[in-house]
Amino acid sequence: MSVDHSLKETIIQGTAVSPGIAFGPVHVIARGMIAPEVYEISPDHVDYEISRFQDAIAKTKSQLSGIQKKIEDISKNQDALIFEAHLMILEDKSLINKVIDSIQNLHQNAEHAYYAVVQTYCEAIRRMNDSYLAERATDIDDVAQRVIRNFSTADDEHKSPELNPEHQHIIVAYDLTPSDTATIDRQKSLGFITEQGSVNSHTAILSRSLGIPAIVGLENAVMNIKTLTTIILDGYTGQVILNPEIATVTKYREIQRKKQLIESDLDELKERKTQTTDGRLITLSANIEFSNELKYVEKSGAAGVGLFRTEFYLLKSGEIPDENRQTRVYTEVAKGTLPHQTIIRTLDAGGDKLPAEPLTEAEPNPFLGWRGIRVSLSRVAMFKDQLKAILRASAHGNLGVMFPLISALKELLRAKDILKECMDELAAANIPFDPEIEVGMMIEVPSAALMADELGRHVDFFSIGTNDLIQYTTAVDRVNKNVSMLYKPTNPGVVRLIHMTVQAARANGIWTGVCGEMASDVSLTPLLVGLGIDEMSVGTHQLPKIKKAVRSLDYNDCKELANKALNCRFSSEIFNLSNNMAKECYNELID
Ligand code: PEP
Ligand code: MG
Repeated sequence: MSVDHSLKETIIQGTAVSPGIAFGPVHVIARGMIAPEVYEISPDHVDYEISRFQDAIAKTKSQLSGIQKKIEDISKNQDALIFEAHLMILEDKSLINKVIDSIQNLHQNAEHAYYAVVQTYCEAIRRMNDSYLAERATDIDDVAQRVIRNFSTADDEHKSPELNPEHQHIIVAYDLTPSDTATIDRQKSLGFITEQGSVNSHTAILSRSLGIPAIVGLENAVMNIKTLTTIILDGYTGQVILNPEIATVTKYREIQRKKQLIESDLDELKERKTQTTDGRLITLSANIEFSNELKYVEKSGAAGVGLFRTEFYLLKSGEIPDENRQTRVYTEVAKGTLPHQTIIRTLDAGGDKLPAEPLTEAEPNPFLGWRGIRVSLSRVAMFKDQLKAILRASAHGNLGVMFPLISALKELLRAKDILKECMDELAAANIPFDPEIEVGMMIEVPSAALMADELGRHVDFFSIGTNDLIQYTTAVDRVNKNVSMLYKPTNPGVVRLIHMTVQAARANGIWTGVCGEMASDVSLTPLLVGLGIDEMSVGTHQLPKIKKAVRSLDYNDCKELANKALNCRFSSEIFNLSNNMAKECYNELID
């Protein structure tokens, strides 16, 4: 494509959320929420109006299932699950009943009734001022848009023509919904730029899985970038270059070529061990949220699952599955990862995740509130259902179980007592389970790291949840972008707590893993290896890179580096030590 060199090259900075380079003309999407028609229906039209509503829901359901299937076919990751969440929103009974109620009693037309109920839900969620829940409100909006479009008789199918111009282009939008992202024509859409969104937004997750470079947080992009402007989108650095000069285009073409070569090399590592050049073996396992991600675990070359976050599965339908249903799912995972191990983490609801119980009132400080093991210990029957299901599944595979957010020995001992009770009850009923199942706990709270020597006497392993350990050690909310510059995995306090945990584990003859995002950062692999971490559990798409990183490092050099890090005073010093070694050993993997 041609570049108009009479225009000045300009660079704007956003946040990179999906790696890759895109080069092409912009297509700006300026869309607002579709406002539905509003009119009063006559009482004898109530049934007809309800059936229109039900038809729109049914049509939306079939479209969403179609998109889900499409994403499943093309995506290597678990991203189609986003549409499972959309289907749940669509079929939410209380929402449907409220709409029917408004049609019957307020005589509102169906689309207006639906729109009004959805708006009330979204406003309530947005008022909570919680960035995670705000993303959920966007999901609800997305589903609502589709339903409202489906009230009209015209069949819009899955494609919005506005999203799909005929030529190849880079989309610039205020925001993109997950279904917009999923239905965009991949042959023609070279990249996405949005004003809204975050690294953890669903659109960002989907663009990573579709392999489409993306940048979010580019303020006023819709106003300032015109359709057909030629740009380069740098999904590694978050830079957008408007009207690039020839030298800039050549530079980026070279970067693109090199990155493609690296990606194809990584595939070949699948069957290889995760071992440093001097023979230190690390168990490299995967993080999952749903059992149907097992195929990606296998594809990534992971040595099993180091963290199965069960809260998404348990709470997705608003009703916790009973012991038998849970047993089926855990058994599927246990069998699916053989001969490797799967570590099932018991319910970790609360905080920025799903509410511990549907419709729980918002807490003033959810991260310091009713979360993790605290919920399980105060709902013993529910906890026992989960533990028994895990134990029953352990008869069919290689399972471990671990408890989240332990902050005191008493909680661990109580959780273990309940586990023992479950074992006794299963044994009395002649139901098989693995009595040697590994029992571990997460180290996510400073009090646990400081007490690791004592806690280590009662478990078979520690898994360090750095996402929370950083948050609780540095008093920095992990999802608040106003303080995100203070959220540093290399904060010396955090590094010392990790060291303390590993030392306590070794003194007790047990192993230590890291399953937080810190383990996925190739710049920090030298530090974690040097601190003596035995296992790392990471997202399936990051796994090959981490394997390659470990395979490029020398354990003795890493140990020396970690010793230096333990004497550093600033997080930047520790980061630089680790990042410099990473650059020396595998510069090509660093974005
Ligand atoms: C962590 O805190 O690092 C962790 C892995 O748990 P989650 O992100 O689910 O809180
Ligand atoms: Mg955690």
